[in-house]
Amino acid sequence: MPQRSGHKPNDKPKKKPKSEKTTKARGAGPLRPLPEGAVWSPEACSRERWEEAMRGMPDDALPADLTKQAPISSYSYPEFWYRDEERTCVDCGAEFVFSAKDQKFWYEVARIPLHATANRCLACRHQRREAKRQNKAHMEKLEAERTKKETG
Ligand SMILES: [Zn+2]
Repeated sequence: MPQRSGHKPNDKPKKKPKSEKTTKARGAGPLRPLPEGAVWSPEACSRERWEEAMRGMPDDALPADLTKQAPISSYSYPEFWYRDEERTCVDCGAEFVFSAKDQKFWYEVARIPLHATANRCLACRHQRREAKRQNKAHMEKLEAERTKKETG
């Protein structure tokens, strides 16, 4: 037999315990729906904490899929969403934008740890990658010559 709600008139209204910090500044009015694309992970934080955070997400932010982020330490929080960030390149000093889309790719596709962030502009990043590649090729060549000398 299905139970009908509202059967008992003396039911206590559901009130949350006031033990946690109350956020009275925002959150007045009806609850906003959770942003599309936002995915919670039980390993990241409590669902309550996540929902509360997601309802405060800025309109220009990109919601995160927490199940795709690299595992975090128990002392830190995940990134609930990504926003374009202005940065200064540590190599050439140029200003660049670490975009929300880039961040989503970094942390959810490449699964780069959340504490890592882009410190270099795209040009410098490419340059570094190319330099590393050339250096590796150079080292391999030296190594090949060395073993050739030793064996030959
Ligand atoms: Zn640069």
